[in-house]
Amino acid sequence: MMNTWDVIVVGGGHAGIEAALAATRLGCRVVLISAKTSRIGEMSCNPAIGGIAKGTIVREIDALDGSMARSADATTLHFRMLNRRKGPAVWGPRVQSDAAEYARAQQLYIKSSGIEIIEDEVTALDGVTDRVTGVKCRKSGSIRGKTVVLAAGTFLGGRLFRGEELWKGGRIGDLSAEALEKDLTERMFHVERFKTGTPARIVRSTVNTAELEVQRSELTKFTFSFGKYKPNDKEEVCYLTYTDKNTMNIAKDFLHLSPLMAGRIDGTGPRYCPSFEDKVVKFPDRQRHKIYVEPMGYGSRDFYLNGLSTSLPREAQLKMVRSLPGFEKAEISDYGYAVEYSYFHFSEIDETLRLRRTENVFAAGQICGTSGYEEAAGLGLIAGANAGRLAKSLEPLIMSRMDSYIGVMIDDIVSKGADEPYRMFSSRAENRLYLRQDNADRRLYRSADRFGILSEQKRELLTGNLKEADTIWNVLEGETVDGTRLSKWCRRPGVSVEDVVTRSRNLVNRDERVLASVILDEKYRGYIERNLRRHESRRDLEKISLRRISSYMEIDEICWEAREVLERERPETLARAERIPGIRPTDLNGLLIYLGRQRST
Ligand SMILES: Cc1cc2nc3c(=O)[nH]c(=O)nc-3n(C[C@H](O)[C@H](O)[C@H](O)COP(=O)(O)OP(=O)(O)OC[C@H]3O[C@@H](n4cnc5c(N)ncnc54)[C@H](O)[C@@H]3O)c2cc1C
Repeated sequence: MMNTWDVIVVGGGHAGIEAALAATRLGCRVVLISAKTSRIGEMSCNPAIGGIAKGTIVREIDALDGSMARSADATTLHFRMLNRRKGPAVWGPRVQSDAAEYARAQQLYIKSSGIEIIEDEVTALDGVTDRVTGVKCRKSGSIRGKTVVLAAGTFLGGRLFRGEELWKGGRIGDLSAEALEKDLTERMFHVERFKTGTPARIVRSTVNTAELEVQRSELTKFTFSFGKYKPNDKEEVCYLTYTDKNTMNIAKDFLHLSPLMAGRIDGTGPRYCPSFEDKVVKFPDRQRHKIYVEPMGYGSRDFYLNGLSTSLPREAQLKMVRSLPGFEKAEISDYGYAVEYSYFHFSEIDETLRLRRTENVFAAGQICGTSGYEEAAGLGLIAGANAGRLAKSLEPLIMSRMDSYIGVMIDDIVSKGADEPYRMFSSRAENRLYLRQDNADRRLYRSADRFGILSEQKRELLTGNLKEADTIWNVLEGETVDGTRLSKWCRRPGVSVEDVVTRSRNLVNRDERVLASVILDEKYRGYIERNLRRHESRRDLEKISLRRISSYMEIDEICWEAREVLERERPETLARAERIPGIRPTDLNGLLIYLGRQRST
């Protein structure tokens, strides 16, 4: 009898890795098929993990026992806590990693987890779309599986652009998954096109770093992983430099050769992360733009130029780079380029990340319309867990937007999609004072444990953290300062963790990280509880179905723009309608009045 896997994962990027590992933790037999196994875990773009909101996703991945946090910790060269000017709820831990070491660490996790790895190109799903029997591969033929996770990243019908150069590929040096894209479109899946881009890599020895502003790593005990702190003894400095008028003028001179401006790229790119030529067009009066100069690895040959993403021709790129102070003699090792690729329209994906028209195919990562390693890994973990749970006939894992950024991301993607590659921002989370990076372990423990995705070792560690939090909380509740309970006293503005420890008899030797996190819970308690109440009332909206409405265009109680949007989006419930951009509270009231009238007639 042919071998049937519980879960087949297509793609060894950030999403595929977490998907394969999550399914394995559930006890599934997993095969990971990737076009080039030596590139498993590769960072296609910048060598950094985390950032505002993204850093919180990494911690959530760790709380769900994924590998991204541990690999980032083990390969950290430079650390910054972003957003320190704002409250701790929106601080964003970000590390610069050694890109090659990071990929090696991820490969090691996969190899040591008993996952079968096959180097091959998946050319199609196998069997009828409703219930596939596995996948077809170029060399290995049919591989059978109970479930399939597609995590093909930027490879589906991938096209690479640089000036007038155009070639097929998912990223430089890799194939374009053309056959798989063709199979998916022949099966009538709705796919659309996005684009993204990357800057040139520069030979480090050709840069005069004495001319650049030095950015040292923060001294910190921070790790993404909730495990015990293991300092990485390697460190690199990063640098900051600026473009000037000259850089802008060079870009302007070559604009007519930009694939984007010349209309050769149809896909939409991320507005929040524009190419340099985009910046020149959109902000013509800006005198300068920041460029972060980041080493690709420890003592690596190359620098990455964060902020100078471009798909202009090679000649323009070299001139632009050499216009930067310190880069007058710079040599480019790899030129920047743009990639255009297909992704699933949001209407194809459900809240478990299953493709709606199938019983057993899941989508994960960039293929869902997102951008970024962290977003991809978060989606991969949930898709893999759900594929694994389906293979074992268990109920699916659905993440709530009130408990995690991963939940916010999935809810946003499946309910309203995105008109540009979706990236996580803290402003997307209404419950962001609760969705902090410091408490991801405590927020997610119950779901993770219930859904069986924690290893024994992780469960032990997380239950230890929960117990520690309980002990601390009991102390805060039990002790008083000037007649006020410590739990209430610590909410006062300006009261720090150190102040609380000084005033308490029992907090001196407690775990510093857990202590700080519990105190933050107390400080934000009022806001968090108010948010939860608001959410509860929203839940009621979830119960109000809009399926009976045949045409929104006739509903006089809502404004004209809302009618058009609702007619197009056709939300299933009032809660979904509320989350559609452009729908205002008055429109929701109007809908309620309309539905009430319909019921009484
Ligand atoms: C040029 C470029 C620039 C980028 N710029 C940014 C940026 O500025 N900011 C940002 O946040 N993100 C950027 N990204 C995106 C970032 O790389 C992705 O968000 C992230 O890598 C997505 O992870 P993933 O696992 O979904 O896919 P990927 O990391 O793309 O991995 C896809 C995997 O699938 C495999 N695969 C694909 N098709 C097949 C097939 N048919 N058969 C077998 N294997 C297959 C590939 O070999 C690969 O292992 C950029 C990507 C590229 C290529």
